[in-house]
Amino acid sequence: PVRQVDAAVLRGHGLRPDVGKRADQHKYSHGHALILSGLSGKTGAARLAARAALRVGAGLVTLGTPHAAVTEVAAQLTAIMLREIDTPETLTRVLADQRLTALCLGPGFGIDRAREFLPCVLAAHRATVLDADALTALAEGETAFAALHDRCVLTPHAGEFERLFPDIAARLAEPPTKGPAYSKVDATRDAARRAGCPVLFKGSDTVIASPDGRCSVNAAVYDRAAPWLATAGTGDVLAGLIAGLLARGFAPDHAAETAAWLHVEAAYSFGPGLIAEDLPEELPTVFRTLG
Ligand code: AMP
Ligand code: MG
Repeated sequence: PVRQVDAAVLRGHGLRPDVGKRADQHKYSHGHALILSGLSGKTGAARLAARAALRVGAGLVTLGTPHAAVTEVAAQLTAIMLREIDTPETLTRVLADQRLTALCLGPGFGIDRAREFLPCVLAAHRATVLDADALTALAEGETAFAALHDRCVLTPHAGEFERLFPDIAARLAEPPTKGPAYSKVDATRDAARRAGCPVLFKGSDTVIASPDGRCSVNAAVYDRAAPWLATAGTGDVLAGLIAGLLARGFAPDHAAETAAWLHVEAAYSFGPGLIAEDLPEELPTVFRTLG
């Protein structure tokens, strides 16, 4: 059975109007997300993700930034911290700090650098969202794919899905024959089983599946189509939402379901004319509706 995620399901995941925060807690109770940034000209993607991670309730958010992009990144930051990370070796040293509870690799990162950093990110065995260039790097290497673990979340759009799971995508694209059609739900389920971690297959009809076959679709999509999400940077915000929820301690599948729901609700709440940076800013309004 395919579950429809709605506000009640999210309350079960611990998402309450207070975003699950209590009076007796402090910022160190809510996790620390490390978002890895790309080079100059592409840092906006990671900055969007970082903003989303903070708004969704991570206690602390750091942007891991290459030296060459520090000025570009730092000029925009206030509540978000910055740490220079130029090599996988530096990242490994940074990750020795177990208080870093979640990682995000991919948005605007650059394919060559993604190839270089991916093994180190996977070896850290931390709750990790892999998106964009990290998915492209993952699709190239059987070793990397084999290093995926159950605390990862993959967030491919259709093109990234096809690169990662070409045979599954081909089956999905086949013209319908007799018998039940092979659906996006079936494809996402098969992908999650193969990856060994939750897969969130994006689109106007986002599907989230776990390796054990559990699957959900976003109820919000059916009541509230928000085609104006098809604009630059919205996927980066989604990756950041997942990273923020992972940092807070949400299980990977719950983080993916919750982020997908919040993403569509924020888009719908803002309405047409939305650009990616509006999405994190709309979250407080969405939280108020959770009641
Ligand atoms: P990306 O492809 O990484 O830029 O991510 C785009 C985001 O926008 C994903 O969360 C998609 O699910 C969402 N999206 C893209 N196109 C549509 C559409 N036509 N209707 C609703 N959501 C969409
Ligand atoms: Mg993307």
